[in-house]
Amino acid sequence: MSASARRAAVQSILSKKPVRSATSYEQERIHELFGMNVFGDSEMRARLPESAYKALRSCMEHGTELDPTLADQVATAMKEWAVGRGATHFTHWFLPMTGLTAEKHDSFLNMADGRMLLEFSGKQLVKGEPDASSFPSGGLRATFEARGYTAWDPTSPAFIRETQNGATLCIPTAFCSWTGEALDKRTPLLRSMEALSKQAVRLLHILGEKEVRSVFTTLGAEQEYFLVDRGFYQLRPDLIACGRTLLGARPPKGQELEDHYFGAISPRVIAFMQDCERELWKLGVPAKTRHNEVAPSQYELAPVFERTTVAMDHNMLTMEVLRQVAQKHGFVCLLHEKPYAGVNGSGKHNNWSMATDTGENLLEPGRTPGENLRFMVFLTAVIRAVDTFPELLRTSIAFAGNDHRLGANEAPPAILSIYLGDQLTEVVENLISGTPRGEGARKTTMTLGVNTLPPLPRDATDRNRTSPFAFTGNKFEFRAVGASQSIANPNIALNTIVADSVAWLADEIEKHARTMSLDAAVQTVVQTALKKHARVIFNGNGYSAEWHAEAERRGLPNLRNTVDALAHYATEKHVVLFERFGVLTRKEVESRGHIAFEGYVKAIAIEAQSLIGLAATHVLPVALNHQERLASSVSAARQAGVSDLRAQEKLLATLSGRVNQLLTAIEALQAASDKAETHHGSHKDHATFYRDQVIPAMSQVRQACDALELLVDDDLWPLPKYREMLFIH
Ligand code: ADP
Ligand code: MG
Repeated sequence: MSASARRAAVQSILSKKPVRSATSYEQERIHELFGMNVFGDSEMRARLPESAYKALRSCMEHGTELDPTLADQVATAMKEWAVGRGATHFTHWFLPMTGLTAEKHDSFLNMADGRMLLEFSGKQLVKGEPDASSFPSGGLRATFEARGYTAWDPTSPAFIRETQNGATLCIPTAFCSWTGEALDKRTPLLRSMEALSKQAVRLLHILGEKEVRSVFTTLGAEQEYFLVDRGFYQLRPDLIACGRTLLGARPPKGQELEDHYFGAISPRVIAFMQDCERELWKLGVPAKTRHNEVAPSQYELAPVFERTTVAMDHNMLTMEVLRQVAQKHGFVCLLHEKPYAGVNGSGKHNNWSMATDTGENLLEPGRTPGENLRFMVFLTAVIRAVDTFPELLRTSIAFAGNDHRLGANEAPPAILSIYLGDQLTEVVENLISGTPRGEGARKTTMTLGVNTLPPLPRDATDRNRTSPFAFTGNKFEFRAVGASQSIANPNIALNTIVADSVAWLADEIEKHARTMSLDAAVQTVVQTALKKHARVIFNGNGYSAEWHAEAERRGLPNLRNTVDALAHYATEKHVVLFERFGVLTRKEVESRGHIAFEGYVKAIAIEAQSLIGLAATHVLPVALNHQERLASSVSAARQAGVSDLRAQEKLLATLSGRVNQLLTAIEALQAASDKAETHHGSHKDHATFYRDQVIPAMSQVRQACDALELLVDDDLWPLPKYREMLFIH
């Protein structure tokens, strides 16, 4: 790699044009495209006998198991549909604890008496047995009992993935060990939704809404990402190995002019976005919004919300499609939380709510006193949940990449406060105090079940972008989720802690209603809960220093990094919670804790090794080269009798000083890294060592490299610079 390769990468962009997709858009209609690769409701209805269709729908709605005959009928219908769409293979598609998706393909092909048959049985649909010994299990599974099994989740529809030369039927499945432990992210997510459903239905029945049979959570995951030209990417070993740049001097211009946000989308980028959307629509992913984000070369894609498990699958597919389509367009899509220092990082805003099978959003402020009573009860449940289990919510978004977004210099704090907006906060305050405050029409005490809420203008609820957990009109937006992570963990945590609060409210209301009217009981319980938990509400600037101090006074935890957060994951408090609601067993919680610590250690270890390689073999040689040229130029000038060489000698001294600094820093990082690799201790100690010894040593190396980037001849520098990667496409 040399500076000429870097120049060539810049040059090549001049001739890159927007890439047209395989089919021309003029011939396609969005309603024909949408869901064409999904074995969805209309396909099922058309291909199954009426009774089988009804039985399947009932299994899907209530999450119950299919009986073998029905499974065979569904499998045959699915196979015929898939083969008709060009599929040759099927796979159980699952979400192991790597946080990625996994698949192992089998063709439909079978041989009988020397004849080829296409077969797909109910058994193959419902259950698979991948040899899955290489997935992380956190000690749940020894290699001698390595097998796990996958089981179809009928609440998530099967779909076809098309690639250049073929198509594969994908069946969303859960992944468990033979002893029944969850080895994936779908299983506990499903269990958490079930737990929440059970408690919410119980509470709704107490409130008199007897017709509700189930409650599910809804999710809209707004996805942020960066695009970088592929030519640049290939010259950055750090991007290839770690997904983020480990060094790079700040460009003269970053995002300070705010000229990228919502700006006109450049031609190559919009061609990419349109291609992505078309692919996503075919897969039934309701991609809705696209725009430029705050940082240069940063973008966002937002879907329409769906049932959480489906939204999770769709978000995994979205990340996959973004990556694959980017390649076709000569880009690489970076989903890392912080690809570049100095500009905004990427998150995934987790828009979350609860809905009933009767079509009601439980976080929708209503028009009638009864609807508002229900709204206030469920709102209170969320407030209590976040204030009771802030550590659990924090651990659900804790991993190395997200540390750059939370609690770090350039990021919002890791304190989990709730933004309610002024009007709703006033309602809460009035409920707590029982005395009217505020102005005008709102000068009334809120009496649940009797009064209605003052109207909450939707647009007034979403102004504060600094809050990690904001009420935005009819849903909560958990903004601290990382761009690259699966939405499973945050939603498992959220669903479980809300289930706990809903259960508490149901118990308390039931108890009080024995001695008073239902409305009065609700009023009393809601008031008690809000009084205790309103400290978690904060509408101010979450980035301000005052908030840190204020949060500490209020007793809100501030777990600044992954290691601090993860130390709270497998605590007794959380094990008891997860076991009580049947979401995770003690063993499952503990194994997940180990995997999370291990993931942190591995991520930092890879970064440290990559940085040492870059510093020693990319930066150091060109710095030495530059130093040599400078030195010979100074000595030539001296020989020629130039009288005043002070400035040149000073420059040479500065450069040599930086080179020495770099050498020392590399040596220190290597030493820390060697020590870390042979470190024996608990998972937590190991991770702590990386955090306290390796990461600071990395930042010393980076500092020296970045200083050198500003001194060394641009013609020698081999690594694409920030100003190029962020601004040229
Ligand atoms: P913005 O945040 O840009 O103002 P919206 O608030 O309309 O946009 O929507 C943001 C995301 O929230 C979208 O993905 C949307 O589908 C999702 N969303 C809207 N309502 C709900 C809901 N009830 N449950 C879950 N997600 C929702
Ligand atoms: Mg939003």
